[in-house]
Amino acid sequence: MGSVHSKKKRQPSVIVIGAGMTGILMVIKLRNAGITDITVLEKKDRVGGTWRENTYPGVACDVPAHMYTYSFEPNPTWSNFFARGGEIQQYFEHVADKYDVNRSIRFNEAVTDARYKDGQWTVKTNQDSTYVADFVVCATGILHHPAFPDIGGLDEFEGDMFHTAQWNHDVKIGKGVKVGVIGTGSTAAQAIPELIKSGADVSVFQRTPQWILPLADFRVSQKMKRLLSKSPRLVSLHRKFSVFIMEHLFTKAVTGHFFQKKLLEYWCKLNLRFSIKNKALREKLRPNYQVGCKRVIVNTTFYKGIQKDNAHLITEQIDRITKNGIVTKDGTHHDMDVLVLSTGFNPFNFMRPMNLIGREELHIDRAWQDRIKAYRSMMLPNYPNFFLMLGPNTPIGNFSVIAMSEVQGDYVIKMIQKWQEEQFDEVEAKPEAVKEFNDYVKQGLKGTAWVGGCQSWYLDKDGDPILWPYTWKQWVKEMREPQMEHMHTKSLSTKESEKAA
Ligand SMILES: Cc1cc2nc3c(=O)[nH]c(=O)nc-3n(C[C@H](O)[C@H](O)[C@H](O)COP(=O)(O)OP(=O)(O)OC[C@H]3O[C@@H](n4cnc5c(N)ncnc54)[C@H](O)[C@@H]3O)c2cc1C
Repeated sequence: MGSVHSKKKRQPSVIVIGAGMTGILMVIKLRNAGITDITVLEKKDRVGGTWRENTYPGVACDVPAHMYTYSFEPNPTWSNFFARGGEIQQYFEHVADKYDVNRSIRFNEAVTDARYKDGQWTVKTNQDSTYVADFVVCATGILHHPAFPDIGGLDEFEGDMFHTAQWNHDVKIGKGVKVGVIGTGSTAAQAIPELIKSGADVSVFQRTPQWILPLADFRVSQKMKRLLSKSPRLVSLHRKFSVFIMEHLFTKAVTGHFFQKKLLEYWCKLNLRFSIKNKALREKLRPNYQVGCKRVIVNTTFYKGIQKDNAHLITEQIDRITKNGIVTKDGTHHDMDVLVLSTGFNPFNFMRPMNLIGREELHIDRAWQDRIKAYRSMMLPNYPNFFLMLGPNTPIGNFSVIAMSEVQGDYVIKMIQKWQEEQFDEVEAKPEAVKEFNDYVKQGLKGTAWVGGCQSWYLDKDGDPILWPYTWKQWVKEMREPQMEHMHTKSLSTKESEKAA
């Protein structure tokens, strides 16, 4: 529990769950704010989260590298305009080392229960350990739980089969190997060209075609890296330029700004028109929904790859899987040696399957039974002193979540500082503030590309957005200062006696 640090400020204890990009960030921010009693619980044996897990061929970021970087730790030596997954993983490991984050982490400890009672959080792990803290910050990720397709016979397949987020590098893929890829999202668009390059016979099973924007990806020359290493101003300019482009093109296009919407639309349509030579193939690849309705895929390799002789685009829907292949609805059996499931993630899990239990034994499954919701994506009624990083309505389509995470981190620190100043012992969002926030988010949905006639993870089962439907600037403005009128705060007598001790 928090101990008395000085007459003015008490020291909180904080548990951070997860050591991905967000968990690392929180340790650095908390320490910068003078908060040192930090325990990070990470279920795996290394930091990195997404970039540790996703090692499929071609894995890369799809926002410019200098933007997918902490603002306080620029990296002048990124090798590509869009950083590759391995290099991103190295970057996070480097940051964790440099800021000595690892000393706060307990690796190989998966949190199974987190319970708030009598003014404190008690957190249990699969190692039978119990930790107690004043605050819990949940940094468990958004695209963390692979989603598996609901196709009959999936368990019967006798060849090698794996999800892209669990790539099996022991399986040799090359000439003479028949590979089936289910899915055509961002990950598939990166992995498929690499599989085709290996010489394997690749069949791509497409349910929904995607709009693809060919933003030029290029390797950064040694000369450029040296130049950037010598000039932090140039790196900062590069970053600002990327933020400007992503905000003024992507986020405005998908949130209903006419000019940007048209520009993005024409760009994607021209890309399809001039990249795919064969008319029949082009039509198969043409989406029938608005550009931006699903995450726009930023890619220059997929269209090239899919036109190779060893690539086959199959648009007939899958009927079932057999022990040695896939049967499509037209009755054709496609023999396969390897099945790659590029079927995305379950974005609605957030911290679950953990038992997150708030006041009055409220389980998170019950709190969210009607709808997944949080105040400003981060705070929940009945869960005092709890913050969810990258919660519902955080991401902006095609923007860097690092930037968003940094803003959220500052918000957490400001709230904890109020606790340190003894303005309260407990803080949680008021239910009416959550409702107001959700109504506001829902209102923003009108006019966005997400209601443009597609099915995507951007909307929940009721058609409400899981993303932020306004601009980046609006996000920053609204997160700048905690609005305490939206909070329930409380002083606890037990803590009062602690303070006096
Ligand atoms: C393939 C892919 C590409 C992406 N590309 C981009 C991109 O270009 N731009 C962008 O902005 N975003 C991108 N994202 C989104 C990406 O998820 C985030 O950018 C970022 O990795 C989120 O960081 P995080 O720390 O919040 O979560 P994660 O990286 O998922 O880390 C969560 C950590 O929590 C740990 N954890 C989870 N549950 C528990 C538990 N119960 N107990 C203990 N530990 C736990 C996990 O092991 C993990 O280490 C991409 C995601 C994927 C999957």
